[in-house]
Amino acid sequence: MDGRSTVDVIVVGGGPTGLMLACELRLHGVGVVVLERLAERTAESRGRGLHARSVEIMDQRGLLERFLAVSEKFRVGGLFGGVMAAWPDGMDTAHPYGLATPQAVTERLLEERARELGAEIRCGHEVAGLEQDADGVDVELADGTRLRSRYLVGCDGGRSTVRKALGVGFPGEPATVETLIGDLEFTEDRAKVAEVVERVRRTELRFGVAPDIDGRAGVARMIVPADGVAEDRSTPPTLEEFRARLRAVAGTDFGAHSPHWLSRFGDATRQAERYRVGRVLLAGDAAHIHPPTGGQGLNLGVQDAFNLGWKLAAEVDGWAPEGLLDSYHAERHPVGARVLTNTRAQMTLLGAAPGPTALRELLTRLMEFDEVNRYITGMITAVDVRYDVGAGRAGDQDGGQDSGHELLGRRLRDVPLSDGRRLYGLMHTGRGLLLDRTDGGRLSVDGWADRVDHVVADIVDDEDGDPGVDVPALLLRPDGHVVWVGEDRQELEAALTRWWGTPRWGEAGER
Ligand SMILES: Cc1cc2nc3c(=O)[nH]c(=O)nc-3n(C[C@H](O)[C@H](O)[C@H](O)COP(=O)(O)OP(=O)(O)OC[C@H]3O[C@@H](n4cnc5c(N)ncnc54)[C@H](O)[C@@H]3O)c2cc1C
Repeated sequence: MDGRSTVDVIVVGGGPTGLMLACELRLHGVGVVVLERLAERTAESRGRGLHARSVEIMDQRGLLERFLAVSEKFRVGGLFGGVMAAWPDGMDTAHPYGLATPQAVTERLLEERARELGAEIRCGHEVAGLEQDADGVDVELADGTRLRSRYLVGCDGGRSTVRKALGVGFPGEPATVETLIGDLEFTEDRAKVAEVVERVRRTELRFGVAPDIDGRAGVARMIVPADGVAEDRSTPPTLEEFRARLRAVAGTDFGAHSPHWLSRFGDATRQAERYRVGRVLLAGDAAHIHPPTGGQGLNLGVQDAFNLGWKLAAEVDGWAPEGLLDSYHAERHPVGARVLTNTRAQMTLLGAAPGPTALRELLTRLMEFDEVNRYITGMITAVDVRYDVGAGRAGDQDGGQDSGHELLGRRLRDVPLSDGRRLYGLMHTGRGLLLDRTDGGRLSVDGWADRVDHVVADIVDDEDGDPGVDVPALLLRPDGHVVWVGEDRQELEAALTRWWGTPRWGEAGER
């Protein structure tokens, strides 16, 4: 194509999803160019933190220390539609907490990592359109420049240009309510602010004021219901509009002034019909939008990227078995749909009418049952995600979620190993992993050793108790999900073939 070089993968959008994906692709040596419309990263944070599954992901890639250095831990369970509960006992994770990390910090840390790994991030590059053919994707930028890549992933947010260019349907519901959000300075006394917030939130849960947001003294994050739904939500509210809504809802505007950031968001709930069209894929908000209740959107996007990265790398590298890349849609679309469903339920619960109020009271009672709290917490934190990986045996494609061992399709929590190492510490490279607990390590990954590590060690109990892993060996994908358990060599080889393709003998295959 006119002498232009072809990039392996173009990632459109340098938000949390695009940056995480860039990191994952670079781990496998895939050439990545991230095209980000903004010339400079915004300092404002929509997302407030990482839930337990994303915390695990950062640990699996050796990034957790960086996040811990700049984040407070929080331990809230049952975070659902304005109901909160204590963190439940017995959650299946070695990271029983969330991290209060402003989105801007998450983006900074992921960008830093992506650059370290060699991703090229071009800011001020807006994608205007694209066309694909059998061998690649041509991208047109807003300034008329053209680029070509073998694959392209649209991580360009809810109004995704990529999704629209593909013509992929985005069914769901439009916004019915709108909320104004902003970071503003204020003159009101803090005790008075707290008193007003306490009073208003008894009936209006879409209202809140959090002083000293992100450690910025004198700046408060304020949210307040808008009056109706704006035609164009990309236009921020004015300071006057914001203050008028504060006065209407809370009876005071807290002397709000000097806004650092003003924005609005709705409760539109939509999901892309397809996450893949040929050589173009969608991830993060480009694939799904929903209200921010439960703080799940950023986490969902990062987890999409974690699922997609190694599969796309395998495709680029030429070893992907048939169907691997399509398993991205098959696995992640249902997970996204489930989040949409839970946010719909949460929005109903947030209502001020007697019905939702009564439901909230009931749910608050129900949350006192540990099992209910664990279920809700597992769902919001995404530690309960289970993919349909069949029964873990090649050829047994129709094995549903109920077939096979309980661990199949789930990610394994971090566990301490008998050699003093921890499982997640062995997953930083993004390769597959055979955890072999058989006597003397009788199993082998010969033929796949260039893609899968063989670790001979036992799992030991730690302060989180007995990890409940009762199998002689487990095969983990690069995203930590279990795709095979047992000790039968033939079954193991079938599973290796199913997820990592044909064996490669010789130096690379038998290290
Ligand atoms: C008020 C609010 C609070 C929230 N709180 C939470 C929370 O606590 N926890 C949570 O998990 N989630 C939260 N979310 C959701 C979270 O902010 C989003 O889900 C998250 O930002 C999605 O990440 P993304 O990378 O997929 O998309 P985005 O963050 O939207 O990033 C897309 C990127 O693509 C760029 N881009 C767009 N178009 C183009 C183009 N044509 N060419 C090049 N670049 C382009 C954009 O500039 C942007 O940088 C909240 C959302 C809101 C509105």
